[in-house]
Amino acid sequence: VDPAASLVHALRRSAAEAPDRTFLAYFDARLTHRETDELSDSVAGHLAARGLKRGDRVAVMLQNSPHFVLAVLGAWKAGAVVVPVNPMYKSGEVAHVLNDGEVAALICSDRAWESYLRETAAGSPVRMVLTGCERDFQTRDDPRVLSFERLPQAADADDLVTVARAGHPAPEGRDPAPDDTALISYTSGTSGIPKGATNTHANIMYNAERQRTGLGLPEAPVYFALAPLFHITGMVCQFGACLNSAGTLVLAYRFEPGVVLEAFAEHRPHYTVGPSTAFMALAAHPAVTPGHFSSFTVISSGGAPLPPALVERFRARFGPYIRNGYGLTECTAPCASVPPGREAPVDPVSGTLAVGVPGPDTVVRIVDDAGAEVPFGEQGEIVVRGPQVVPGYWRRPDATAETFPGGELRTGDIGFMDEQGWLYVVDRKKDMINASGFKVWPREVEDVLYTHPAVREAAVVGVPDGYRGETVKAYISLRPGAETDPGELAAYCKERLAAYKYPRRVEILPELPKTASGKILRRELRSRTDDH
Ligand code: ATP
Repeated sequence: VDPAASLVHALRRSAAEAPDRTFLAYFDARLTHRETDELSDSVAGHLAARGLKRGDRVAVMLQNSPHFVLAVLGAWKAGAVVVPVNPMYKSGEVAHVLNDGEVAALICSDRAWESYLRETAAGSPVRMVLTGCERDFQTRDDPRVLSFERLPQAADADDLVTVARAGHPAPEGRDPAPDDTALISYTSGTSGIPKGATNTHANIMYNAERQRTGLGLPEAPVYFALAPLFHITGMVCQFGACLNSAGTLVLAYRFEPGVVLEAFAEHRPHYTVGPSTAFMALAAHPAVTPGHFSSFTVISSGGAPLPPALVERFRARFGPYIRNGYGLTECTAPCASVPPGREAPVDPVSGTLAVGVPGPDTVVRIVDDAGAEVPFGEQGEIVVRGPQVVPGYWRRPDATAETFPGGELRTGDIGFMDEQGWLYVVDRKKDMINASGFKVWPREVEDVLYTHPAVREAAVVGVPDGYRGETVKAYISLRPGAETDPGELAAYCKERLAAYKYPRRVEILPELPKTASGKILRRELRSRTDDH
């Protein structure tokens, strides 16, 4: 990686070398690399003229749209730190981020500003606001995706698109340095109050460069943004890697299976990455055909467990092999993945699919509670050291010291490594179920449930039990048209798992709760009142 590099530099390079190539495709709208460079210069010029200083925080709370990209690049060109915010966050969640991040500028949709963010921002450090309708760059009237109309411009906010088109030059001397913080990424919150990981430009460029060189994609690749860009996987493996490859990024506002399949057919992408739940939803759509996946060179699953039964089922029906990858917000998306052309082995004992091998310059170790390395095949906590690991959490010296002792990331995940160097993730340490003193890892039970033909989604949690302390409970959603009942599913698992592991309780729900990045929320299932 060029030591001076950042995505700002990557954009300047692509704008010079491939100015007229489409960078962003959003329904009927297109922006070339040069246009994206000019429009984001203007956003930066505006922010700096309004008093934004180097290192100030800019919250960007938008869906996958050109607006998101212009906001992020504009903030970086003004020397600011971007705080991506999930646009589905409610007022209290946004307030936490605006205050904790001491955010100076907020860029959001005009609908969200009018409906609740004005009130949320009132008591926060925010002092400048840009709003835009994510339909401004779109000409096709597509009510399935966007059902809201452009609101009249608010008196207390500037219009993002007008600002981008004003032709302001980018401020001088604000280009990011590699060690500058690029993002404060609040973790998706599957395990408690969000903390902000400080991803540097060098962290991002390392993984963006790995994605550019390591996937065997053609020149000027077409990426489809399946994962949300406000989540680290979407930000780095889609937006970052695509820009760093001077490619084309297809955006479709948010994950809507029918719209995604249409976009696959129209844009013929080479690469996408999403959580396994997104592939399950695409596979369950009535319009899906193998042709929808025929343009892909690589399809990756990232950020959430990938059941081996899904990989096989998907390949048998549609052709492509879904490539696993493992990462966390704290290591700027992937730290281990399956090298192209290879297939991840399945551990014969637990049935777990390997997540991949660590990237170059990345050291993954498995340690016991005392921090000592354990032998091959033995389980312990996964710890990671490498150029993608963030320096720490934003303004949390205690949490930083605890999670990054000596600069090494303690992931909180339990895993093991085989002698060939494949890494396996067993589960999150804190999700272990203690059933009468026996350890049960929910993932192992879920992987068995996924082999049942009726199961679409499965999540296993421990629920309080007077006799065993905790007992194993499975929540299931079914594939379209499939029929089964809780007793049958419990019996199916009982045949395939030790007696203490099979779910004694099974509940079927229409759909399982998920984070915006598609991860099934075990925490929410655990706290369902009917279990207590
Ligand atoms: P929070 O930190 O608030 O709980 P989160 O952990 O969901 O949120 P992320 O950084 O998005 O935030 O998720 C990282 C976690 O996702 C990992 O620690 C791991 O548990 C899980 N994960 C990611 N990739 C995989 C994979 N390929 N297989 C299994 N688990 C994975």
